[in-house]
Amino acid sequence: MTKNPKRQKAVILGGGLAGLTAGYTLAKAGWQVEVIEAQEQVGGLARTIEVNGFRFDTGPHRWFTKNESINKWMHKLLGKEIIQVPRLTRIYFDGKFFYYPIRLMNALLGIGPAKAVQAVIDYFLARVRSRIFARKLLTMEDGYISQFGKTLYETFFRRYSEKLWGIPCNKVSVDWVGQRTRGLNILTIIKDVFVKSKNVVSFVDEFSYPVSGIGRFPDKLAEEIKKAGGKIYTSTEALKINSLGKRIVSVEVKTGDKQIIIEGDHFISTIPISDLITRLSPKAENKILSLTKKLQYRDELQVALFVKKSHLTDDTWIYVHPKEIPFMRVMEMDNWSKNLSPSGTTAVVFEIACNYGDNWWRKSDQEALETVSKAYIREFGWLKKDEVVGGYVHRVKKEYPVYHLTYKEDLDRIKKYLKKFDNLQICGRNGTFRYNNMDHSVEMGLYAAWNLIEGRQKYDIESVNIEREYLEEKKIEKIEDEKLDES
Ligand SMILES: Cc1cc2nc3c(=O)[nH]c(=O)nc-3n(C[C@H](O)[C@H](O)[C@H](O)COP(=O)(O)OP(=O)(O)OC[C@H]3O[C@@H](n4cnc5c(N)ncnc54)[C@H](O)[C@@H]3O)c2cc1C
Repeated sequence: MTKNPKRQKAVILGGGLAGLTAGYTLAKAGWQVEVIEAQEQVGGLARTIEVNGFRFDTGPHRWFTKNESINKWMHKLLGKEIIQVPRLTRIYFDGKFFYYPIRLMNALLGIGPAKAVQAVIDYFLARVRSRIFARKLLTMEDGYISQFGKTLYETFFRRYSEKLWGIPCNKVSVDWVGQRTRGLNILTIIKDVFVKSKNVVSFVDEFSYPVSGIGRFPDKLAEEIKKAGGKIYTSTEALKINSLGKRIVSVEVKTGDKQIIIEGDHFISTIPISDLITRLSPKAENKILSLTKKLQYRDELQVALFVKKSHLTDDTWIYVHPKEIPFMRVMEMDNWSKNLSPSGTTAVVFEIACNYGDNWWRKSDQEALETVSKAYIREFGWLKKDEVVGGYVHRVKKEYPVYHLTYKEDLDRIKKYLKKFDNLQICGRNGTFRYNNMDHSVEMGLYAAWNLIEGRQKYDIESVNIEREYLEEKKIEKIEDEKLDES
């Protein structure tokens, strides 16, 4: 890879995986790199927090990608720090546990033979209907019913989705179904019972994971950026993004009590796209500002309980459907790595989807810890009150981009507007408002960096995390293999 002859400077907004991957790639290619991160720690949504010797992740983060080049890249970066973790996922509702991916006998006994027959009939009816009427699928409800039939949608998807989003499934766009359960349908589920599928992400029963927690991944990227001469500002918020004509010229940041201006030749933004727009100076057009207000996000409270027990269940995570139970997902850290908690103890992390400022968001830490531990003890009986030795509450703003029914048109117009800046690229999960997994954000970060290194917009960031034809995916992997070998 050619070194940057004039040592051009790239300023990267956001120190999550997308921003850090871009920074790492550029710094290694000889660029001046400055990463601006608002939080005290890098990693964004993929962090590991340590409190009193307990290490726990900000939600379950398994590494799995169908892109072999990106997989090799990650393994090369973290080397022996990566372990393989067997995955056990269960779904809990109506007082019963269901394995996921579905185990035929467990599912049949769980929902009962009558409902099972109904589910199969419904599925075929949905398939026939979609063939005959070829109706455009608009909502999440349409998508799930077409993929699984009404009975399975009602049984396995509706309640969880509504708990996650806080709105009915017919108010969420079908796009989310495509990104969440790509390649999954009743036939692939039944087939997987007999022949293990490697192509459906939901079926993967083993994944890679850094032995000291997912936060090691961004931390390692940050270390490498610094080693290559780059700079990372933490606890530093980008307040104003200054432009002159078609170029972004600088970012005004707040770091401690000081406000400073950071100039650059090129800018990569991974901060939420709506925050980027509202921080532009001069201001964005009024029409764009009002479209931006329509983009919404779902926030989350993460409650970690520290327990005097080394093991409660074998689950890596459990999806909890009933509305009356406040949390929607539970992860037990000792099932991810034994190195995360002091001996004889573990941390259990609960996720509660909420909206910034609502009742859950405003609960005191004490109240959140008590409510969650009471519900967990009462519902599952795996823990006694006196075995809880501590806890921690972490609040995350803008955890999930909400795909409202008209979000796509608004988003396309906002993205088109941002194209007017020649030296700005947007990437990452909230940066592009796309439901990315870690590998997608990494891939976007690589593309943004390669575009700068090669001096032209050759790699299409917007092509990441959308349906790709198999052949095209192979072609992309080949390009990535070559580039990643050079770096
Ligand atoms: C609960 C949960 C579970 C997940 N599980 C998985 C999983 O199992 N597998 C998987 O592959 N992926 C998973 N993901 C997705 C994964 O976390 C993301 O795709 C990835 O971490 C996104 O990285 P990013 O850099 O694109 O965005 P982010 O992590 O959001 O990074 C953006 C950064 O910008 C910073 N920022 C924002 N505003 C400003 C500002 N004004 N100034 C400076 N900095 C700012 C933020 O603090 C943040 O650090 C999960 C996500 C969640 C929320």
